[in-house]
Amino acid sequence: MLKKVDPLEYPISEKPNFGEPLEVSEDIFLLKMSIPYALDHINLWLLRDAGGWTIVDSGYHSEEVVELWKTVLSGFCNNEPIQKIIITHFHPDHVGMAQWLADTTGAPIYMSQIEYLMTNLACQEYSEKQKGQRSKYFTRFGLPAEKISDLKKKVGGYLNSVPEAPVSYQRLEKSGSITINDEAWQLMQFSGHSPGHICLFNMERKVLISGDQILPSISSNVSVLFNESEANPLADFLYSLQQLSKLDKETRVLPSHGYVFIGVQERARILIDGHQKSLEQLRKFCRVSRTGYECVEEMFGDKLSLFNLSLATGEAMAHLNYLVAKNVLSRSDDPVYRYTTN
Ligand SMILES: [Zn+2]
Repeated sequence: MLKKVDPLEYPISEKPNFGEPLEVSEDIFLLKMSIPYALDHINLWLLRDAGGWTIVDSGYHSEEVVELWKTVLSGFCNNEPIQKIIITHFHPDHVGMAQWLADTTGAPIYMSQIEYLMTNLACQEYSEKQKGQRSKYFTRFGLPAEKISDLKKKVGGYLNSVPEAPVSYQRLEKSGSITINDEAWQLMQFSGHSPGHICLFNMERKVLISGDQILPSISSNVSVLFNESEANPLADFLYSLQQLSKLDKETRVLPSHGYVFIGVQERARILIDGHQKSLEQLRKFCRVSRTGYECVEEMFGDKLSLFNLSLATGEAMAHLNYLVAKNVLSRSDDPVYRYTTN
């Protein structure tokens, strides 16, 4: 049997421990922090900046991460000033510790405006009306009643990991740049995984801090959410991959999960192909009219945990909305969505 060759190159072979920074490019350090779900860890970044440090992404809020940060700030960072806290997007493992870090260090938080507003929105408890709308979304997608009732009980987790949204922020402008240690980092703002996700690209060094926008070994979640059920995030996400595939092939990518890698063009192509395959699979599957839930099972199987079921539903819906927008599928609306290939 032919062995599959990984087209990516991983220039850093050391595996860092939690809370122990590892240099991955001159004056740029990977800080691995724990997160309490399947992904296991997030990579945060410490960059030397004007006699101090800039932090990119903050970590998932937990007692363990608070203790690790205290050790890093006083130990590795030697209590030197923190100049900036940059947050790529509003997901809890990225923004969870931002306000704690701002309170502790006095540094300003930099985010895109959309991500700042999304964090504030996500920190609100759902109203009864919103909970009802969410259940309606699952019902129309054809989820069994008992699953919907289980999902209904699982709301509000965001606040456990992001106890406080940033109180104030400085805006990262789309297509702008930010100076870190006298070097210009170009800001690339994308949508699809999160609506205003920021990547930072250092053209001189050919280094990309990619957040969750492109990851080496897993595909980022692309989901339709209950409060914007006709959205087409997959179109945005595929566009972002096309843009990233234009970066220099020598670019060193610093992702939020997994290993530092070289091969952004190949990785973007593999991810685009993966989504195209799923789209083709659904196109064939819907030759017979199908509910959304049948499509979830076709794509992801029928043994999903509750957490994965909600992600898989959003992801299946993203693919189905994309195909409907392309006029590949038709959708009949009442009472449960049914999808049929045109
Ligand atoms: Zn994310």
